[in-house]
Amino acid sequence: MRSNPLDYEMVAPGSLHAIVSLLAKDPGMWLPIAGGTDVMVQYAAGKLVARKLVSIWNLPELRRIEVTPDEVRIGAGCTYTDLRKHEAIGREFPLLSSAARWTGGIANQNRGTIGGNIVNASPAADSLPSLLVYDADLVLVSVRGERRLPYAGFHTDYKKTLMAPDELIQAVCLPRRFLGYLSYARKVGARHAQAISKVCIAALGRLANGVIADARIALGSVAPVPVRLTETEQAVRGKAIDSDLWLLAKKTVAAEIRPIDDIRSTAKYRGVVAGNLVAEFLNRLSAASAERDGLKDTLARWNDLPIDDAIKMILPCCGSKAWAQGMAARRPLADEAALLAASNETWHNLARSEWMEAFHSHPRIGESRPANSSSTQSLPVLSSIDQSVEWSAQEQRNIGDAEAVVKTALADANREYEQRFNRIFIVCATGKSASEILETLRRRLKNDAETELHEAAEQQRHITQIRLRKWLQE
Ligand SMILES: Cc1cc2nc3c(=O)[nH]c(=O)nc-3n(C[C@H](O)[C@H](O)[C@H](O)COP(=O)(O)OP(=O)(O)OC[C@H]3O[C@@H](n4cnc5c(N)ncnc54)[C@H](O)[C@@H]3O)c2cc1C
Repeated sequence: MRSNPLDYEMVAPGSLHAIVSLLAKDPGMWLPIAGGTDVMVQYAAGKLVARKLVSIWNLPELRRIEVTPDEVRIGAGCTYTDLRKHEAIGREFPLLSSAARWTGGIANQNRGTIGGNIVNASPAADSLPSLLVYDADLVLVSVRGERRLPYAGFHTDYKKTLMAPDELIQAVCLPRRFLGYLSYARKVGARHAQAISKVCIAALGRLANGVIADARIALGSVAPVPVRLTETEQAVRGKAIDSDLWLLAKKTVAAEIRPIDDIRSTAKYRGVVAGNLVAEFLNRLSAASAERDGLKDTLARWNDLPIDDAIKMILPCCGSKAWAQGMAARRPLADEAALLAASNETWHNLARSEWMEAFHSHPRIGESRPANSSSTQSLPVLSSIDQSVEWSAQEQRNIGDAEAVVKTALADANREYEQRFNRIFIVCATGKSASEILETLRRRLKNDAETELHEAAEQQRHITQIRLRKWLQE
């Protein structure tokens, strides 16, 4: 450690109002410290110029994620772990989720915040390209009140921002209008975790009638600030994806970026990789479109089936016969979006007893067969159980790797849940570790009966959406 703690002063006023008042009294004197994952690196290296630090860590006003009909508003003090675990962010803003997963290691993700990543203003920061393609806005706060500005343009040059010395970033707002886009993110570095990017990309794309209807591409580590490739986007828009377009895209990318040589890589390498990443994005967009045409085939077949066969085929996605009947009655459904919307509406209109039937079609967390399966069931029901068992095994993939002590704790908590609520515990296990599920189960054991029923129903709704997407690919 090259710094002496006695040279520094740190205060933690504990409220946003008190903090912005302090910043206003002596603009530029107090350095906000959130998770400290950048500030403490400077401190340890003896390079922290600021001597007065004000803690903004874990302030409730900066730690909320609010989902409104139009946008998701993320408090600047949210950590990468908060972002990784948030369902709406994972579903609608997967580029930001991926960046959160790739930033540092777990300890870093538990402390590092999105606000810190923005203000630290590294051209290599992993979350920033995604903010560019999602058209994020920033909300800044000071004693003068709040001001909202587009994130694009916030970084004016290397390590320079539009933030005044008495301001804080309060929130990052993402408009909810990118569902249906293909997302593509890659970090090229020595490895994903614990390595700064040599180049990183976040891109969104949409094809219509065989041509690119929209492309939104941003890169990190190829200029003094993260950049949106507007000229490349313009060059590919309205065109079919083929080898000529890859060449054109690579040429336009090379003209748009200003990579440098540094300890991590060379300008030449970065230029070539940037072009290749954009070409790979176009490839994925083309492949996803072909796959979507395949999905349309599955749906077209299902739309044409006799009603009993259609019910049988879709039943394992949810487990409730009333839901399956409701879905079959809504045919024909045009595409994946219509299918998912119909599922949500049908699920919300079911009686509670029909929700229960869906809940009981699942195995307990940590087990493989549903509690209600028996050899007296009819053949179609059995085959639907087999499909459901296979999906459950995929959904619970991470549980098998858990330590014995966690598995035992899960079994105990499952038992306690069943005694308290008289049904099995329902949680969307996809992508969750056994410890995360155990934490959720223990939290939900404290719910009252009504809150818990709705939480279980929401989890089941989400499981059904995931299964419908898999079902379309079968
Ligand atoms: C081991 C390690 C690995 C890392 N790996 C990566 C990686 O893979 N990718 C990557 O992008 N980054 C990485 N980082 C960098 C770092 O974790 C991120 O930049 C992090 O998001 C910073 O957030 P923080 O809350 O820790 O910021 P702090 O260190 O607390 O603050 C950083 C700067 O932001 C300012 N600040 C913080 N919050 C606000 C706010 N709300 N309003 C105004 N100013 C604010 C502070 O004053 C300071 O200037 C790594 C860091 C470490 C130590």
